[in-house]
Amino acid sequence: MITILFGPPGGGKGTQAAHITERFGLPHVSTGEMLRDEAARGSELGNEVEPIMAEGRLVPDDLIVRVIEARLSQPDAARGALLDGFPRTVPQAEALDAMLRRRHRQVDLVLCLDVPEDVLIQRLLGRAREEGRPDDNLETIRTRLDVYHRDTAPVLDHYRKAGARIETVDGHAGVDEVTRRIYTAMDRLTGSAA
Ligand code: AMP
Repeated sequence: MITILFGPPGGGKGTQAAHITERFGLPHVSTGEMLRDEAARGSELGNEVEPIMAEGRLVPDDLIVRVIEARLSQPDAARGALLDGFPRTVPQAEALDAMLRRRHRQVDLVLCLDVPEDVLIQRLLGRAREEGRPDDNLETIRTRLDVYHRDTAPVLDHYRKAGARIETVDGHAGVDEVTRRIYTAMDRLTGSAA
């Protein structure tokens, strides 16, 4: 099962992904985490993406598509994956669709976390204090939200037009309640696929 966990920065994707992967046994494929690991290791890729991430901009599509293609070729992704933070542009979505088509697969579910903007900013500023992520400061947060509205939100329309299954979950509820709603949506899908 290929599931896209979709939503704005600060929408709770990372938190929810941890619950979902545990329950459904799907690998959590977070492009943001993969890039942060590369940057921490100081690899060539990491050095290339670090300044882009620090500004809250998106790294080039072709680069991230290569990263995802390599990741989805790993044996643990044979049954599926939970994609977190990818695709983030329509060209990335088109590249993913083509990649999956070649493997006779498709995007099975888009789980969309819906959270009001003022809540996002408060959450991201809170995370900045707690985790010290370099891209969690007010200026970068504004850039990331602008990028989300301009480049990433159209990905949802792309999947809507393609007739993909989309489940929108109100991500403003408490963490456990959001998790429960996600489980219900995913159980409906696995139930209907059986
Ligand atoms: P995230 O942890 O998903 O918020 O990602 C952190 C940062 O990594 C983003 O602000 C981008 O700079 C970069 N990034 C992660 N995923 C992607 C992607 N699919 N396309 C482009 N840039 C990405």
